[in-house]
Amino acid sequence: MAKVLVFIDNPGQALKKASLELLTFARSLGEPAVAFNGELHDGVAETLAAYGAQALYRPSAADLDDYLVGPKAAYLAAAVQTAGATIVLTENSAEAKEIAARLGIRLGAGVITDVVGVEPGGTAHKSVLAGSYTTTAKATTPVAVLTVKPNSITPEPAVTGTAPATVTVDVPETAAAASARITSRTEKAASGRPDLGEARIVVAGGRGVDGNFGPLEDLADALGAAIGASRAATDAGWIGHDAQIGQTGKTVAPQLYISAGISGAIQQKAGMQTAKVIVAVNKDAESPIFEIADFGIVGDLFKVLPQATEEIKKRRG
Ligand SMILES: Cc1cc2nc3c(=O)[nH]c(=O)nc-3n(C[C@H](O)[C@H](O)[C@H](O)COP(=O)(O)OP(=O)(O)OC[C@H]3O[C@@H](n4cnc5c(N)ncnc54)[C@H](O)[C@@H]3O)c2cc1C
Repeated sequence: MAKVLVFIDNPGQALKKASLELLTFARSLGEPAVAFNGELHDGVAETLAAYGAQALYRPSAADLDDYLVGPKAAYLAAAVQTAGATIVLTENSAEAKEIAARLGIRLGAGVITDVVGVEPGGTAHKSVLAGSYTTTAKATTPVAVLTVKPNSITPEPAVTGTAPATVTVDVPETAAAASARITSRTEKAASGRPDLGEARIVVAGGRGVDGNFGPLEDLADALGAAIGASRAATDAGWIGHDAQIGQTGKTVAPQLYISAGISGAIQQKAGMQTAKVIVAVNKDAESPIFEIADFGIVGDLFKVLPQATEEIKKRRG
């Protein structure tokens, strides 16, 4: 049976849905194990066991976060060898993809990014051209590294849980010496809103907000939603790039996606079209966003959104 290693970088207090998805994929491919970096809290260890992890690997060095990705790739390469893994699964974030690329070089492994599904034999389905096509690809190397897009599978715990042992993996000392060290960090101010990738409701704004996300923030707060944006809005500097949804941004699949002042370009749709219910507010009735919206409101977002917020607040008391 194939040994499948899932990389989880800084699991925190509770595993993210994206990590649970990786573990669910891993079980369908073979025997799952986890290589983590950072602290392992008891609750997380219990979840890993419930999701069928057969072994847990931790790095001998506690300072991998003090460097850019080089030492993490070196650690993961050593973990792959210790575990005898033939498949490695990671998230699809920019950092995870960089780690995957470096891991591929270290191990001579094929790397497949933007994976949205994996067959038991290891054939990966990969989303291309802004999500308009899915291709299949299989690495022909002894080890395959796959970076998996979030919201690709429904996470499910294993039928039978495990009691995995934790194994420490030596990180080669040369890895840190050859890598750039992070000299300072500035913590981002917390918005108090849910994480965009995991939120059940997303309120997203585009060029139509004209620099003023205020009405969207009010609506998001009334609904307990996360704020997202089109690339036009992030490129204009009205909101951070981490809010960008789409082909070159985040992929979200919330229960409800409220799109305001976004035209619905193919690259934007690539990141949100699997939302369960899409509500679009746009003053142009011909806007392509209405082709995929479940509910459409032709109107000025600065008039529509405050009315919606007021009504929601009233009904919630
Ligand atoms: C390689 C590549 C990758 C890309 N990746 C992404 C990506 O990840 N995400 C992304 O979003 N885009 C991406 N883009 C850009 C994409 O093609 C579009 O340019 C972008 O999505 C447009 O953003 P928008 O809908 O906000 O702006 P616009 O297309 O300008 O649309 C603005 C809309 O707002 C409406 N509007 C204006 N004022 C109001 C108002 N007061 N009330 C209501 N409606 C109003 C207008 O009718 C219009 O429909 C990418 C492009 C390329 C080439």
